[in-house]
Amino acid sequence: MLEIRDLQVHYNGITALRGVSLDVNQGEVVALIGPNGAGKSTLVNAVSGIVSPSAGTIAFEGKPLHSSRAWTISGMGVLQVPEGRQVFPQLTVTENLQLGATALRGRKAGIPLDEVHALFPILRERAEQLAGSLSGGQQQMLAIGRALMGSPRLLLLDEPSLGLAPVIIAQVFAALRTLKERGMTILLIEQNATLALDLSDRAYILEQGRVVMSGASKALAADA
Ligand code: ADP
Ligand code: ADP
Repeated sequence: MLEIRDLQVHYNGITALRGVSLDVNQGEVVALIGPNGAGKSTLVNAVSGIVSPSAGTIAFEGKPLHSSRAWTISGMGVLQVPEGRQVFPQLTVTENLQLGATALRGRKAGIPLDEVHALFPILRERAEQLAGSLSGGQQQMLAIGRALMGSPRLLLLDEPSLGLAPVIIAQVFAALRTLKERGMTILLIEQNATLALDLSDRAYILEQGRVVMSGASKALAADA
């Protein structure tokens, strides 16, 4: 579904990605794990068109991505940190969710609001509150809910655990597990290897712009 081949990204003089290849197949949860500075955000930004690779290719559903808007056109739900970046603080929780559905652009209906509420009950309880009044963790749930309303074929999550309290992380990851069980294709970017290996089917370990290990998450977790 997502095919990244020999991706290289340079920022004036700094090499952030040194030939990274990565695949996400339909129905898989794939984790990209690595410490700060490994190049994780650069990879997400290349996939979402914010940075231009100097070499290599990215294809989504067989189509090469090269325009900055490619991922919205292709039906990819991209969620990036800092958490809350994609919520509109001055709109209500429900208005934020409804905006997510505008990403559909004529494609088939997204995940119904009821299902998003079932995944994150707090979004029902706070339906009429302004998004800006929610805690960071609740805004993160709202951001994920909003991405789901757009019915993405691939959900790309950039460090969904970052800055959240453990109890909130557990709630977010329980919801992600439910999505996985329903067959959602997910690329999960994480610094927290334990969380990421526990949820994912396969994983890539990124260090200093290179994939240093990859394979089944169970096997990688057993080696760690
Ligand atoms: P991660 O997300 O894994 O923390 P990044 O992709 O943010 O890693 O960073 C990879 C490398 O690229 C780091 O050395 C970082 O300092 C550098 N880098 C990231 N963004 C920029 C930028 N806009 N300009 C210059 N260097 C950058
Ligand atoms: P515009 O309405 O200006 O054309 P876009 O539709 O490209 O803007 O994007 C509006 C916002 O919605 C952006 O912040 C983008 O990140 C987000 N977005 C767009 N499509 C999706 C999607 N499928 N999943 C999650 N977020 C999306």
